[in-house]
Order: sequence, then structure tokens, then C-alpha cells
Amino acid sequence: MVRIDEIEIRGTLTPDRPMADLSWLRVGGPAQYLFQPADADDLAAFLAALPHNIPVLPIGVCSNLIIRDGGIRGVVIRLGRGFNGIELLEGNRVRAGAGALDAHVARRAATAGIDLAFLRTIPGAIGGAAKMNAGCYGTYLADVFESATAITRDGHRVTLGRDDMHFEYRSTQIPEGMVITDVTLCGTAGDPAGIEAKMADALDKREKTQPTKDRSCGSTFRNPAGFSSTGRDDDVHDLKAWKVIDDAGMRGATLGGAQMSEMHSNFMINAGGATAADLENLGEMVRKKVFNTAGITLQWEIMRVGEPLK
Ligand SMILES: Cc1cc2nc3c(=O)[nH]c(=O)nc-3n(C[C@H](O)[C@H](O)[C@H](O)COP(=O)(O)OP(=O)(O)OC[C@H]3O[C@@H](n4cnc5c(N)ncnc54)[C@H](O)[C@@H]3O)c2cc1C
Repeated sequence: MVRIDEIEIRGTLTPDRPMADLSWLRVGGPAQYLFQPADADDLAAFLAALPHNIPVLPIGVCSNLIIRDGGIRGVVIRLGRGFNGIELLEGNRVRAGAGALDAHVARRAATAGIDLAFLRTIPGAIGGAAKMNAGCYGTYLADVFESATAITRDGHRVTLGRDDMHFEYRSTQIPEGMVITDVTLCGTAGDPAGIEAKMADALDKREKTQPTKDRSCGSTFRNPAGFSSTGRDDDVHDLKAWKVIDDAGMRGATLGGAQMSEMHSNFMINAGGATAADLENLGEMVRKKVFNTAGITLQWEIMRVGEPLK
């Protein structure tokens, strides 16, 4: 069997790579290997040669991940510069590399009068947005998705249509180890200045209601209602995660360096020196409290990956 460090690559393969500095929450142990492919061909050849028993985890910018303190076994794949392209296509369509930041895609699209404004305030990259069916203020990635290109775990390039994605609220069902390499989105036509104003408004709304300067992963739990906040004044709060967390008295609750934000109770933050275990255990405490007070089982929106510290 070929050894992982004998596979010919053009990108970089780093053994035992600490992950905390790559993650929004600044926690987590090392990846056994971190692979940053040069381009899609490099990634496909690497995956084809990689022994099947080695697990593969694609990541974006880790804005929705708690990486556990014991680190990640196998290969973590991070798409860098070779996957950042943003191409404007006919018919209000945009093809973005999976490593392109959502905000960059929204801004580039706006210059061409394509409205993908909802992506402006989501801090992830497009691959992560597709995988998570990211969305805010009533619009989801699924609403603008046309197709995606991906590399399967055994190194084959495939095209994914809407039916392959199985979009649901904050989730999809693409096979484990499959890496999305680019996504084609179709926005609505709009006037660039109007789209800019919409994005500025969304940024302003975030600043006022969410702890955007703290280290977080956005919403910790999915809304039990099964959809995200619309951002409208007539929004109903009964089945919002933040509301049931408030009702359970957990706004501001702490465990070690982890805290449920005082500003937005469904945002869990690293208030200073938190471990992944602090964050995950605080989340479990919140779930228990909410179940005891409201009979609701909150579902994690933040993905937890890797192994706890032994
Ligand atoms: C301040 C803040 C606000 C946020 N607000 C929102 C919001 O309004 N709406 C919302 O939906 N989310 C929000 N989030 C959460 C997060 O930004 C989104 O889930 C985002 O889409 C994750 O993208 P990422 O690139 O960081 O993915 P990561 O966190 O790195 O990964 C998330 C998942 O996607 C998978 N993945 C990543 N890239 C690929 C790829 N190329 N191929 C296959 N799988 C891949 C990973 O394996 C993992 O399962 C917020 C986060 C923060 C910190």
C-alpha cells in the first residue's frame, strides 16, 4: 500500500498540523495531515492514490466547526488559492471556486447587478455554504443553487445537481469525503447600487444584534421551527433557538472559557482560553436545560469534528 507521504502532489501536505489558528473559535488539536491541493486535478489524483481506509475531511474556513482538542485523524483538505476564482456567467449566474469567501462572491456579483446579497454577511467559503445550505434573512443557498462540481473520495470528478444535494434547513447529504470544488449560483437581476445598499443594511443589522467581534461559529443550534430568522419586524420568536435558550436561563452561561453570548444567546463564544471540550460541554448543558424547561431537543448547527483529548 502506498504511504501517504509518497503520493505525488503539487500542493502541500503537512503532517501534524495544528488547526486552532485556522478555526474561527481558535480551538482544536492538530490534523494528522493537512492537504492543500494546487488545483482540482491535484486533488483528484491525491484522492485516487490515497488508501481507502484513511478518512478525509474537507474544510472551508472553519466558521461552523468545533475541532475537538485531540485533533483530526486522517487527512483534512483545505482549498486555497487555486479554488478562489469567481466567474460571472450569462443569465445572472456566477461560478465560484469552493474556496472563495461568500462575502467576495456577493460583492463581485453585485458589481454585475446579480443579487446574491444574502451571502455578504455569512463568514464562510462557498464550499461550506453549499454543504451547510447556509442562509440568512429568509434566503438559503438552495434558493440560488444551480450545480456544483465535486471530487469523490476515490478521485472522480462529478457534477452535482439540486437532487444530488438533498438540501434541507442547514444541511445537505453529500457523501462523506466528497470535496466540492466549485459551485454555480443563479441570482436575481438588480441594480448594483440597490444590492450594495441591501448588503450594507444586512451588515448593519448583524452588528446591532450579533457578537460579530467575538470568536464564534454563528448560531450554535438550529431553530426548532426549522427555518432561519427572516430579519423582518413581524418575525415570530416562539420556536427560535435564542428564545428557548433565554427561557431556560442560559443567556450568558459559562463553562471554562466558553460562554453563551450576552448579546445573542444562540451564539456560543470563546470568551478567552476556551477548549473545544468547554464549548461542546456548554452546548450539551444548554441542550439539557432547554429540554428540561421546554421539552425541546435542540439540534447542533455547529459541526463537531475530530477526537476528544485522551
Ligand atoms: C459570526 C458568524 C455568523 C454566521 N452567520 C451565519 C448565517 O447567518 N447563516 C448561516 O447559514 N451560517 C452562518 N454562520 C456559520 C458558517 O459561517 C456557515 O455555516 C458557513 O457556510 C460555513 O462555511 P465554512 O467555509 O466556514 O465551512 P466549515 O465551517 O469549514 O465547514 C462546515 C461544513 O462544510 C463542509 N465543507 C466545507 N467546505 C467543503 C467543501 N469544499 N466540500 C465539501 N464539504 C465542505 C465541512 O466538512 C463541514 O461539514 C456564521 C458563522 C459565524 C462565525
